Amino acid sequence: MKNEVAGKWNADELVRLHREHLWLHITNHKAFESQEPPIMVSGKGCMVTDSHGREYLDGLSGGVWCVNAGYGQQKIIDAITEQLGRLPYYAGSMATPPYILFAEKMAELLPDLAKVYVANSGSEANEKSFKMARQYFALKYPGKKKNKIVYRHRDYHGSTLAVLAATGQEERKAGYGPFPPGFAEIPHALCYRCQFGQSYPGCNIECARALETVIEREGADTVAAVILEPITAGGGIIIPVKEYYPIIAEICRKHEVLLIIDEVVCGFGRTGTMFGYQHYDVAPDMVTMAKGLASSYMPISAVVTKSYIFDQFVVNPADTMGYFRDISTFGGCSAGCAAALANIGVIEDQGLVANSRKMGQYLYDSLKDLEEMPLVGEVRGKGLFLGIEMVEDKKTKAPLPEKYLAKMVADAKSDGVIIGRMSRSVPQNNNVLTAAPPLIISKQETERLAAAFRKVIGNLHRELA
Ligand code: PLP
Repeated sequence: MKNEVAGKWNADELVRLHREHLWLHITNHKAFESQEPPIMVSGKGCMVTDSHGREYLDGLSGGVWCVNAGYGQQKIIDAITEQLGRLPYYAGSMATPPYILFAEKMAELLPDLAKVYVANSGSEANEKSFKMARQYFALKYPGKKKNKIVYRHRDYHGSTLAVLAATGQEERKAGYGPFPPGFAEIPHALCYRCQFGQSYPGCNIECARALETVIEREGADTVAAVILEPITAGGGIIIPVKEYYPIIAEICRKHEVLLIIDEVVCGFGRTGTMFGYQHYDVAPDMVTMAKGLASSYMPISAVVTKSYIFDQFVVNPADTMGYFRDISTFGGCSAGCAAALANIGVIEDQGLVANSRKMGQYLYDSLKDLEEMPLVGEVRGKGLFLGIEMVEDKKTKAPLPEKYLAKMVADAKSDGVIIGRMSRSVPQNNNVLTAAPPLIISKQETERLAAAFRKVIGNLHRELA
């Protein structure tokens, strides 16, 4: 039977085909043997509608925190449509007008970082930043092996093998080794679970200083770059203290190590500034971005770098070719660049960074007192990026088992609100409920989101009491 909501598709047939052929990302398909797989068919503003016509407040911006501008932004849709009609694609060593204008816009947003390299996904942008760092030092110091990449525990940088090697989440890496050599880890920056047994501000920010220990252990002349999420996203919404990045930057300067900031999640207003690192007094050498860059209306990512990195490639007697030996067919796709350009225009014209700051603060203030409840370890947030760390026992900080987080997420969904969780069954992990709604969210919708968290967390306390 034709389902009106699914429009041109037959909803029952979609379910059958889904079960028969789909292999979804990070999904246990066993559940779909007994439950119908959910299928989203449309979105408007902050709301999405499934194939049964049920509406949800999307507290996750498309599931993975990326539809920053919300659904149905006509300017982005028009820009893509117009460009597809004019010239869908031309790349290789050839630019198109949206490609050039997008690069100019990025250089305006990041004035210290003038060169823009376009790719397709966050993983790819990060992978390219590693290649740039390695080739940069190979060109600068011919014969030397300054090529290691340092990353942080709990950070995530993508799914392909080199960026996974640079990922500090053991649960994501399990089973995919062997990984390429040349990567080293530093501790996470989560004060709530300080690995140095200290508490801020009485500590010496040991988590940042650990970078120097690792660089010295590896040998500074072997380390090319450190990659960090400004605020750790999927690893549990971890917001480093304000002193953290200036210390990191100083260590990088001292040892001539490039600082790569991964803005794949935090970029484009998510945390209440255009870029997450702008909460801190720090100037990265490279910034990578994806998700919110085109609010995911098109797949596009980018690496934006300082000019001196680019210059090393162009004029270098040690290099016979004079270019970065990297290509992705779809990197620079003109409609993707047009989408990103229009999206940035929407973010600016509609004041979405300021709204993220304002509504994010409101959401955080509405929920901070949940920390008084026995199962809530910590409420953390910056802009429209919220994490509620759930614990079984406040003294030991043992994480609340995954099944309870899954239940709270399912209960909120039954009430028409999509929230998320990061819970990976790793002992002593940080099991966290999350929200990252579109940055256009209204006060009323923010209240609804906050109420959903209060309700599911309150209900769970009653059940387990
Ligand atoms: N970097 C961070 C911080 C991410 O959270 C992600 C994905 O969630 C990535 C990189 C990888 O991006 P993509 O999934 O587009 O490859």
